[in-house]
Amino acid sequence: MWDIIGQEKALSLLRKSLKKGNLAHAYLLVGLPHIGKMALALNIAQALNCESSEPPCGKCTACKRIASAKHSDVQILELSQSAESGEGESKTKIGVDQVDQILHSVNLAPFEGRYRVFIIDGVEFMSIAAVNRLLKTIEEPIGKVIFILLTANENLVPATIVSRCQRIELTPVSKEEIEKALIEHQQIDPQRAKLLARLANGCPGWAISAIADDSLMQQRTEWLEEWIGMFGADFDQRFTFAAKMVEKYSQNREVVQQKLDLLLSWWRDVLLVKVDCGVEIANIDFEDILKKMANDYRLPQIRVFVNKIKSTKEHLRMNVNPQLVMEVLMLNIPEKSKVENLTA
Ligand SMILES: [Zn+2]
Repeated sequence: MWDIIGQEKALSLLRKSLKKGNLAHAYLLVGLPHIGKMALALNIAQALNCESSEPPCGKCTACKRIASAKHSDVQILELSQSAESGEGESKTKIGVDQVDQILHSVNLAPFEGRYRVFIIDGVEFMSIAAVNRLLKTIEEPIGKVIFILLTANENLVPATIVSRCQRIELTPVSKEEIEKALIEHQQIDPQRAKLLARLANGCPGWAISAIADDSLMQQRTEWLEEWIGMFGADFDQRFTFAAKMVEKYSQNREVVQQKLDLLLSWWRDVLLVKVDCGVEIANIDFEDILKKMANDYRLPQIRVFVNKIKSTKEHLRMNVNPQLVMEVLMLNIPEKSKVENLTA
């Protein structure tokens, strides 16, 4: 069976193509990190090589070997793997050597299965030489060879690659659907499943990682407490915090974006409580503090700050001076309203 959470549209398209035997020779799976691109790519590889009458069964030798990355006809190239290779290129690139390494078998007949499947995760990180090497290979379809390219940022994928692939978009999954899948397939208790499904923000892979690795939730709690401490802090403390964020940004941009995502989810929750939609909040384990904050701030203040966080994220992406951006954000943390019994 297809063990993907959500993605009915993508699955229905793939099921039809498999049934008719008219698969594309290259697919581009587009979607947010942790939405399920790699899970789907492996599932397609299983469907193509499964030994049962209802592929992908998930139980036969081929399906199991693919799931554990041991099948000799399924090659996977990921960014982290190439970063470790220590070649001269930047660590944020997939180099031509890595592409060469997995493509050397492209013209050979499948060894143990029916199809050779090449999965490249993070295709937007390929160097120009690597892109050219890949283009040469996918230009002319080769029988029994399927390429599955994955990207979280389609805008950075060269148009020459996009135009040669069938594009499949993976869309955010509803929290209800994630929650149900976590309870049924991961045997998680309902309260934890509810929290993880909400924090996953449409991307079930995040919830599954958080089940396997406790440090993800610990880190989220630490980061949240750090932010909450800043809401009542004086300007000195806020500027010290901004400086720490700038330093972090110079080491790891993604972590700072994740911290800002968390801040955004927090203030969205404050907004939801404020407008009586508290049942929709993500951070349900901090509900008491959220309720108190919704009471402490006026609606326009909350709205303005939510937008401020969004523009902070955007400005960082546009390479505006990070120190300026972070200081402006910290200065814009709203002041608690002194008025009792706020109604607006
Ligand atoms: Zn199977």
